[in-house]
Amino acid sequence: MESAAAPARILILGGTGEAAQLAAALAADPRFAPVTALAGRTAKPAMLAGEVRMGGFGGVEGLVAYIREAGPRLIVDATHPFAAQIRRHAAEAAAATGVALLRLERPAWAKQRGDRWHEVEDLPAAATLAPKLGRRAFLTVGRKEIAAFADQPAVHYLVRLVEPPATPLPLADYHLLLERGPFDEADELQLLRAHKIDLVIAKQSGGKATYGKIAAARTLRLPVILQRRPALPPGYAPTATVATAADARAWIEKAIA
Ligand code: NAP
Repeated sequence: MESAAAPARILILGGTGEAAQLAAALAADPRFAPVTALAGRTAKPAMLAGEVRMGGFGGVEGLVAYIREAGPRLIVDATHPFAAQIRRHAAEAAAATGVALLRLERPAWAKQRGDRWHEVEDLPAAATLAPKLGRRAFLTVGRKEIAAFADQPAVHYLVRLVEPPATPLPLADYHLLLERGPFDEADELQLLRAHKIDLVIAKQSGGKATYGKIAAARTLRLPVILQRRPALPPGYAPTATVATAADARAWIEKAIA
């Protein structure tokens, strides 16, 4: 009797909504066996379809060793546009092992009429600019780099995180909100009004899930300090790049066939 071909293992470097959508699409197809790798920053990540692997690999070497052992047919780097280190590691490990690398990256938001954006390279630059633009800032840059705002006591920060921080935030004056997206424009408008926010500080994340605050700031004519996306690693050349989980799935189907 002929046995069915084993499903193709696909390694998804995750931590984004697009990665979760792709894992769900692949897990529903018997030709594929997705494994999503998460850094482990979030203690209770949203449920993911397929296999999940938690924690870092141990640098490029560790990722290369994992790829050789697990034998994925493809690697999909669906990490956040600001996760610069894992992107570089994925490119180096794919080159070292000869496994194809698909980059899944949502496009950046495009500036629209009425947007009052102040684009900055990094968060220390955002912190320096903040007191020149407002007194009550909505800060949505994640937990990891919030210390950049520690030296700015002139500003009250409304901070939104997914999970409670292990230690108090290193900010002089703040209010903490714990919520998981997506966030729509109407709710963000209400939030900005309720907290008398006069400045929004965010990363140029792109995508729909966190665009509500950008649209709400435009409606209220508020300035937005927007951190630009990090530069690509030198010589960065994934096998292909796509913008959506649906495009990633279509690409994978063709590549595996
Ligand atoms: P990073 O600075 O690029 O990576 C730091 C280290 O974390 C990597 O060297 C790797 O450790 C580990 N790592 C990162 N992503 C991983 C993954 N998907 N699977 C396994 N290990 C991973 O990353 P980051 O900016 O801290 O982001 C961490 C995770 O949060 C990513 O999965 C990203 O998609 C998600 N995320 C990040 C942001 C953001 O603004 N940075 C926003 C939303 C979601 P080893 O060297 O030990 O392998």
